[in-house]
Amino acid sequence: MEPARLPVLDVHTHLAGIGQGDTGCFIVPKKFDALLYKLMRWKMGIYDAHKHGRLDEAYRERLERDVASAAEHGALSAAVVFAHDRIYADSGEIAATGQELYVPNEYLFQCCERAKGRFVPAMSVHPYRKDALDECHKWIERGAGALKWLPNSQNMDPRDKRCAPIFDLLAAKKIPLISHTGGEHTVTIIRPELGNPELLRPALDRGVNVIMAHCGTASGIFDAHWMPVFCGLARKYPNCFGDTSAFNTPGRARWNARILREEGVVEKLVHGSDYPVPPTAWWVCFRLGWRKTREIQRIWGFLERDVRIKQALGFPEVVFTNAARLLAPGSLERWSIKS
Ligand SMILES: [Zn+2]
Repeated sequence: MEPARLPVLDVHTHLAGIGQGDTGCFIVPKKFDALLYKLMRWKMGIYDAHKHGRLDEAYRERLERDVASAAEHGALSAAVVFAHDRIYADSGEIAATGQELYVPNEYLFQCCERAKGRFVPAMSVHPYRKDALDECHKWIERGAGALKWLPNSQNMDPRDKRCAPIFDLLAAKKIPLISHTGGEHTVTIIRPELGNPELLRPALDRGVNVIMAHCGTASGIFDAHWMPVFCGLARKYPNCFGDTSAFNTPGRARWNARILREEGVVEKLVHGSDYPVPPTAWWVCFRLGWRKTREIQRIWGFLERDVRIKQALGFPEVVFTNAARLLAPGSLERWSIKS
């Protein structure tokens, strides 16, 4: 009997909002009005939505339309969408300063219910919260497909002893941890050293399937480059994976060719875009050729364009179906995801 065809998923997309429509989200004005955020709002076609009090709704609708359009053209079936917890201080209290954005799990799950068949939620729970374990249990119960962390920006040290029981829970329930590694330029980094993939060893040793977002790659010119560290871990640990998010941006496009040459690593890659970061084929036009680049650039949806660039670059099929293999057991059925 033929095995059932696995759906193609984008394992790395962000939900966002500024609290319009009582979503509970926020983005601080300093960020919301920053050039990079203005560029993303413009590219998404929601530049002025906040002036009409509907930024959060417009953002959600655009992401839904993006997935629907990619699905219509057979590029992918669904997206894993992230919440974003607050920064917690080492004391276990919400940090007094540095909070830049927030997307509550409750709002994420509401969005996923509305977009059934298109979205799978990845909960965001800070491990230093006093109720961290209860929160994880609660969202796993409600169908979380993964747990998402951004250690260098959210002050999460995987070596901290408060992480161990969370790792044990994830391992027992087979919930993957999607954890940011490498440089970061969309939110401010407060502890750069926490971008090192090496620090996720305690999770790997406890049997968690870890998806290292960005494979430890540098984004800016001054970022540390931890891709070789990631490759070493991916070869050593069967439960170590890496996502290809933001690989079609000016900072990371240079790593596409490099990672495709890494034997024993390529099949451990998981396709992801880092939506709403707009992917651009121009950064790899010398490899794709002028005609192909222009053809891909004409694709409206960010999610579909990102898939098409990576397919054209030669990322193998397994990279696009790995998310379906790794997400929490039963989560595809729970969110009605079909191939
Ligand atoms: Zn991201």
